[in-house]
Amino acid sequence: MKRAYLFDIDGTLLKVQHKVNRKLIQRILERFGMNHTSVEDLDFAGKTDRDIFSHLLKHPGDDLFHQVKQLYLQELERHLSPEDIHVFDGVHDSLNYLKDKVAWTGLLTGNFARAAIIKLAAIGLHDRFRFGAYGDDHHDRNDLPPSAFDELIRKSGEAFRPSDMVIIGDTPRDIECAQSFGSVSVAVATGSYSHDELAACNPDVVLHSLRELPDWIEQ
Ligand SMILES: [Mg+2]
Repeated sequence: MKRAYLFDIDGTLLKVQHKVNRKLIQRILERFGMNHTSVEDLDFAGKTDRDIFSHLLKHPGDDLFHQVKQLYLQELERHLSPEDIHVFDGVHDSLNYLKDKVAWTGLLTGNFARAAIIKLAAIGLHDRFRFGAYGDDHHDRNDLPPSAFDELIRKSGEAFRPSDMVIIGDTPRDIECAQSFGSVSVAVATGSYSHDELAACNPDVVLHSLRELPDWIEQ
């Protein structure tokens, strides 16, 4: 069966040490004089970077948003090192498995596109994804599947349907965005939600980690 596999990044493929990413964002806010905004207790899970930064900057104009975004990307590139990143169990094996199957593999992530590349490049996985949708322009994760689908069709030249896309992520928002587009939803309990919490959102399957993905695909 023809299928395309789209992966979320944070909580699904990898985890950037909490203190690295949050401290970096906190420092940037302070540079822009926002000393009273704390990022420490905010829930980022499943949200787009556009949404997170708009919230932190309290609905900024385009200029301010763009300046903060550029500084964030510069600082992330400068400071993020492979030691700051934990790659989850089964990620390399799953990506190798999909490569062997010559499956279309992409990203569906709330990260800014450049942030996605910086994080994945730090662990050598940036060239494993052929298409994707990112959190640069969209506040709502549900807007990402149509955008990823259009790029999949354009790049592959093949007649995929929304139900041929398998959207893999670690939060209820990932499940909801897959369901909203009529795609297959694979939840993985490596992020901040438990297996039971994800199962309650009725995805097509919940995996304990991506180590279980090849077996699930084979079945
Ligand atoms: Mg995630």
